[in-house]
Amino acid sequence: MALPKPNKTLTLSESSYIVEVLKGMALTMSHVIKNLLNQDFRTIEYPDERKPMTARYRGAHRLLLRPDGGIKCVACMCCPTVCPANCITIVAGENPDDPAEKFPVSFDIDMLRCIYCGFCVEACPKDAIRMDTKIYEINAYNRQDMVHSKAYMVNLMDGLKPEAGAAYHVDKNLAPAGYTAEAPVRP
Ligand code: SF4
Ligand code: SF4
Repeated sequence: MALPKPNKTLTLSESSYIVEVLKGMALTMSHVIKNLLNQDFRTIEYPDERKPMTARYRGAHRLLLRPDGGIKCVACMCCPTVCPANCITIVAGENPDDPAEKFPVSFDIDMLRCIYCGFCVEACPKDAIRMDTKIYEINAYNRQDMVHSKAYMVNLMDGLKPEAGAAYHVDKNLAPAGYTAEAPVRP
């Protein structure tokens, strides 16, 4: 399909671009001079010094635990349903102590696809997932490490990082009380 032609006819100075380029350079230089004269202008010596992020900054996800140590998430599937990037993968299992209760056997977020919209946090009825870590160094040497697993997201604030490949494996330590990885995971 052909693109519509612009209605506006460019003047001679606009069509030569010289004046427009000079105007752009003048604007850039005005910002440079303003910042040089500004006493508050400073360089943040990252990574020795970190920029303080606002309370509403959406950083890496973390999963929260209940006071008894079990994971708060009840695998209701609200967050993968609402996620516009379709990057949350949850495998739900039944809690043997309470068949009416579910929990995530695995909970993975592909951070290469996440767009940090925060919809998962907003949709969660259990306040089980938050993006309040203020962690913005979300990187890895391979694609697999960019999939944040349940164990990674639970331990994130402790600075623990499970080895790659932990995703899609049952994490015994984070299961509800009474759950064993050997027990069959019922749909
Ligand atoms: S922040 Fe948005 S894109 Fe990322 S996992 Fe949550 S809902 Fe999906
Ligand atoms: S994190 Fe919240 S919204 Fe997502 S499955 Fe768990 S309880 Fe549901």
